[in-house]
Amino acid sequence: MSNTLLSAKNLTKYFPQKVAWPKDPDAPLATRIWHNLSSQNAFVRAVDGVSLDIISGETLGLVGESGCGKSTLGRTLLRLLDPNSGSIHFDGTDITKLKQSELRPIRRHMQIIFQDPYASLNPRMTVGDAIAEGLQIFGLVSSDAEKKKRVSELLKKVGLAEDAASRYPHEFSGGQRQRVGIARALAVKPKLIVCDEPVSALDVSIQAQVINLLQDLQKSEELTYLFISHDLNVVRHICDRVAVMYLGKIVEIASTSELYENPNHPYTQALLSALPAINPKEKRERIVLQGDVPSAMNPPSGCAFHPRCPVKDKPKACFEQVPELRKSDSGGLKACHL
Ligand code: SF4
Repeated sequence: MSNTLLSAKNLTKYFPQKVAWPKDPDAPLATRIWHNLSSQNAFVRAVDGVSLDIISGETLGLVGESGCGKSTLGRTLLRLLDPNSGSIHFDGTDITKLKQSELRPIRRHMQIIFQDPYASLNPRMTVGDAIAEGLQIFGLVSSDAEKKKRVSELLKKVGLAEDAASRYPHEFSGGQRQRVGIARALAVKPKLIVCDEPVSALDVSIQAQVINLLQDLQKSEELTYLFISHDLNVVRHICDRVAVMYLGKIVEIASTSELYENPNHPYTQALLSALPAINPKEKRERIVLQGDVPSAMNPPSGCAFHPRCPVKDKPKACFEQVPELRKSDSGGLKACHL
């Protein structure tokens, strides 16, 4: 697609894991050999063959249960984590294997906002210095006066007073600190911002303010967002399209209206069944998934969702073949053999 800003193909990110040493000091040789072999082959498959496009100017939501790999995917797309395989193209450039020095000029255009802005702000740095850091790193200001002016503009843009520049992060509330995090990301005039659970730690009333701010900035600064969240109501409000993730894989992608009105994948149907219907006359059956999410170290064969899938008469392929993302009835994509 010509206006694709970021495109990932078959992206994987595995984390090697040490298997616990057998507690018994007199463990037989076979157990020790098994331990050695397992240690070499044990990986958490946090991102497991993800392909997705982010279109310029859109907000793409990324949802799924905790631990499904959403944040790892967000960080891998920005090359904050190196993928094990697959490719990432950003704004027409293949950034998959670029060295850090080669990535530097591109980094400016790809920023991230974290769930806990306090953890990402240096407590010994004034808010003004924290916002100006990117301006200096990328040589976007040539004098102290210009830096000061730019920091004031950014503070105003995110709804903070000018005197905030000389204060420290601990002097601000959670919502204000998130505004500082947004100003910091905005400073370098990015094209894409990965918003990683940006309002999850905030009170509901503050959440709405920060979301409205993100929406206003998207228009005025021509931004594209990848919006990672487990809050399906917030995602419905802010996103143009939504990707649903389960155990390291995308299982469904569709426009927000299609996905919420006519979810195609059994996992999406279960997730959305917990939401109250917009039309009170509409009857919605709650689908309660049985069991826990399986370990990403040893995912089930075939469709990774098959042990919890509520579809009674599953095709045999569910147990044996990994379903590919294909066109769904509602015009999006889904990974399901049905
Ligand atoms: Fe359920 Fe089979 Fe579809 Fe997986 S592929 S979601 S197990 S019906």
